[in-house]
Amino acid sequence: MKNIAVIGVGYVGLVTAAAYADLGNRVVALDAVEEKIEKLKQNIMPIYEPGLAEVVARNVASGRLSFTTSYAEALKDARFVFICVGTPSGVDGEADLQYVRQAAEQVAETMEHPMIIVNKSTVPVGTGDWVADIIKNKQPRPIDFAVVSCPEFLREGSALLDVMNPDRTVLGSLDRDAADEVAQLHLPLRAPIIVTDLRTAEMIKYASNAFLATKISFINEIATICEALGADVKEVAAGMGADRRIGKMFLDAGIGYGGSCFPKDVSALKHMATVQGQHPQLLEAVTEINAYQRHQVILKLRDLLDGDLKGKTVGVLGLAFKPNTDDMRDAPAVTVIEALLKEGAKVKTYDPVAMENAQAMISGPAFCNNPYEVAEGCDALVIITEWNEFKQLDLARLKDIMKQPIIIDGRNIYDPAMMMDMGFQYRGFGRGYNGSQVNAQ
Ligand code: NAD
Repeated sequence: MKNIAVIGVGYVGLVTAAAYADLGNRVVALDAVEEKIEKLKQNIMPIYEPGLAEVVARNVASGRLSFTTSYAEALKDARFVFICVGTPSGVDGEADLQYVRQAAEQVAETMEHPMIIVNKSTVPVGTGDWVADIIKNKQPRPIDFAVVSCPEFLREGSALLDVMNPDRTVLGSLDRDAADEVAQLHLPLRAPIIVTDLRTAEMIKYASNAFLATKISFINEIATICEALGADVKEVAAGMGADRRIGKMFLDAGIGYGGSCFPKDVSALKHMATVQGQHPQLLEAVTEINAYQRHQVILKLRDLLDGDLKGKTVGVLGLAFKPNTDDMRDAPAVTVIEALLKEGAKVKTYDPVAMENAQAMISGPAFCNNPYEVAEGCDALVIITEWNEFKQLDLARLKDIMKQPIIIDGRNIYDPAMMMDMGFQYRGFGRGYNGSQVNAQ
């Protein structure tokens, strides 16, 4: 059993705290936002993540997990301090490190015994050294400490499962003993542990996310070409993905990536490269393709609605940036809804979990209670998030209640041929069979 303090109870921090407590450690989780800590003390989760509430409750009951807003209380017995605060996009895509700075300063001012600072936030290369400098300069008296980078690779929607079953643990430090101590903490997870230096560990995280974003933009570019040539990108992706050198994951064409990580991490990496005088052309293209995917929804709608969306009613199914989360950060739905409203369309929408967060972010659409309430009287429906409940919609009922049977499927859930047979005007992304004539060359 080790004593761990976790700073930040967001998607990464809360899941990390729950998981490490569940592994038998004593964890005190801290957040600067009092309301979140108050909620957690009443076992109300401040975020939606499948299975999280149960694991939190179990570990609170066992006395292994507690919550506080006090750094003194969190650090009192801690050997490890996990920094899990946000690093949002700042000016010019640069990662905004204000929360990391605050956390580092508060740790420095509060620590009373040697400890290992483990950084799980996604931070620009060189931040570990910067954090070490902050702590050294802010300590009231010199106390031993080490900084270890331990980037987090969890996916929202399956975060707990991912933290408990990682593909690898990456540890970066200039202090080998500290890295070994953090490695011990991770042994129960039985995943390969890669130990490297601080900067390399920080870069592994950015390179991983940038690669995954690239894979998505790659298949989306192929989808656009498929659509022009009458090929089906779903089958192309299946054929490509069967090759082990390529792999089948992250080859789902559609409306593109969003969320709190890929867009901001690609931007931060581009910024880091540019500051060093490099020209990250591939990453520029990845971003550009991703933005175009969102715009394609509008193009497809214009195409099917006589070129003009003014006064048309468009239903949007799904608001969260992906299924099984309530996270609305950089969600494609927001871009699409704002564009629709700008074009003069009326928008109706529904999401199984993210409605509350969405209502705080976007005004203008009518928020409905289910997909059918959305579809009622709509000129077109757009599927944005592939929630399970959108995969088996009662299509006959939809067709009955819609004003026009038009569906834009941003996640390629449905079969184009079947949809056309049912009388829908259906557009996926890159599905070839789009009802238009393709000229053989
Ligand atoms: P989040 O915004 O959900 O949570 C951050 C939390 O930190 C908030 O609750 C905030 O109140 C708290 N906080 C900020 N400053 C603080 C301070 N000085 N002291 C105490 N608490 C403070 O963010 P997140 O999604 O959990 O992401 C955290 C980091 O992990 C980011 O760097 C992100 O890029 C990275 N990451 C996120 C994911 C993901 O899927 N969300 C996956 C891997 C890595």
